[in-house]
Amino acid sequence: MPPPTPSARNACQVLVLGAGLAGMRAAWAAKESDPRLDVILVSPHKAPSGSSFANRNNALGIQAPLPHEAEAFMEEALRLAHPGTALPELVRALAEDAPQRLGDLLDLNLTFRREPDGSLSRFPGCFSPAPRAVVFDGLAAAHSAFLARVRSLGVRVLHGYEAMELLKRGGHVCGARLAALRGERSMDLSAGAVIAALGGPAPLFARRICGPGGSGLAYGLLHRAGARLVNTRHLQFFWSRARDRAFVNPGTLPWPDELASLAAARRTHCPLAFDLPDAALDRDLLSRRGADGLVRLPGHEPLALFAHAGNGGALIDAHGRTSIPGLFACGECAGGMHGAQRLGGGMVLSALVFGARAGAAAAQEACGGLPSTSTPAQEPRAPANSASDASFLRSLRRGMDRHGLPGAPHSQGFTAWLKDASQRAASERQRLLALSALLVLGDLS
Ligand SMILES: Cc1cc2nc3c(=O)[nH]c(=O)nc-3n(C[C@H](O)[C@H](O)[C@H](O)COP(=O)(O)OP(=O)(O)OC[C@H]3O[C@@H](n4cnc5c(N)ncnc54)[C@H](O)[C@@H]3O)c2cc1C
Repeated sequence: MPPPTPSARNACQVLVLGAGLAGMRAAWAAKESDPRLDVILVSPHKAPSGSSFANRNNALGIQAPLPHEAEAFMEEALRLAHPGTALPELVRALAEDAPQRLGDLLDLNLTFRREPDGSLSRFPGCFSPAPRAVVFDGLAAAHSAFLARVRSLGVRVLHGYEAMELLKRGGHVCGARLAALRGERSMDLSAGAVIAALGGPAPLFARRICGPGGSGLAYGLLHRAGARLVNTRHLQFFWSRARDRAFVNPGTLPWPDELASLAAARRTHCPLAFDLPDAALDRDLLSRRGADGLVRLPGHEPLALFAHAGNGGALIDAHGRTSIPGLFACGECAGGMHGAQRLGGGMVLSALVFGARAGAAAAQEACGGLPSTSTPAQEPRAPANSASDASFLRSLRRGMDRHGLPGAPHSQGFTAWLKDASQRAASERQRLLALSALLVLGDLS
């Protein structure tokens, strides 16, 4: 094996974009696989952000099947996939690696919920009666623990930048163009391998309950790089009170007696289902939405549907490789391990499993050295989050709330606006946002 190329300021062997659970675990695995590699982890925000480290529950559940539960886990996960796509080899990877990835979290001393005898408490997750999920609290502390781990391994953490383009040469992804969030000079970073851990599409909606700090750019970035995406229409949506976003499970609403069994089934999962009989209740509520998107039921505060997380993304193989050489993906921007519905706690598991796998595989691929050329010339660019970007995002989010919910009427006007914006909008951020939204609508043609 040739020794890794010495690092340069704007170059590294492994570049990880996004510092949620997936990106942190990927950077950790890459550096641990070969400590000589220069690994850079790009994180737009210094403080805990995204759904991993800043979600409003301040807690996360993780599916943690024991070895003897692996078959049941796989069977349940695959049964939930329709009408989305889930690949058995990716679901198997989740089951196989679960004990090790839970071990990582225990090793970081995260605060798990425990029984009086000290053993981990086990809970059923959404869509599953089996008590296989464990829960940890304290996301800021989890963020600190992950950050300390990657830093102690020698990962370079680059705060304040967002990826705006995945750079390609000869069909390979070979780096990323990064925009500074606060008006500094932007830069291009070359890398032997790039891992996208960019989070999901929920930031594309005005009504959303994802963690703050997400960009919503992931699908657009990955698609523009040529990666094949799956399940991009299958977001999880939760019904919540419009006033304070307090979760309301539709199964607890007063339904006629003949719908009692559907209501009981609906109570076993928080997100709306795409292809289960109890989705009839969600369709009924959706049909009662007013022009403002709110459902007003007698004796209840107005309800609305809120975007929570995506179940799709760049289709990966069991090592986190996308369809484009040099480009890996993990976490909420990767797809193929969940279908349209996923088991509660399945995303944290997949972020860790495919973060670790992508990091190790990227390290192996990158140790052949860096792409041989220097980075392209730098040009000052307009700072991200300009007033025009903010106003564009507001319009896009309003449109997604009207036309991007399951069963919402297709709007030719909105789609045409997005298509035009994806080509001609004023900034790259706006073009990528429009492209991401089209992918969620399934309206790219
Ligand atoms: C309230 C809530 C509760 C949840 N509970 C559970 C649960 O109990 N169990 C479960 O399995 N799942 C749960 N989920 C889903 C789960 O938390 C997320 O899907 C998962 O944490 C995503 O991890 P990630 O690393 O892929 O993305 P994130 O944690 O969202 O991280 C993405 C990172 O990428 C950064 N980023 C974005 N764009 C760019 C860019 N262009 N360039 C560089 N960086 C970028 C973001 O700033 C962020 O740091 C929950 C979600 C929410 C909102």
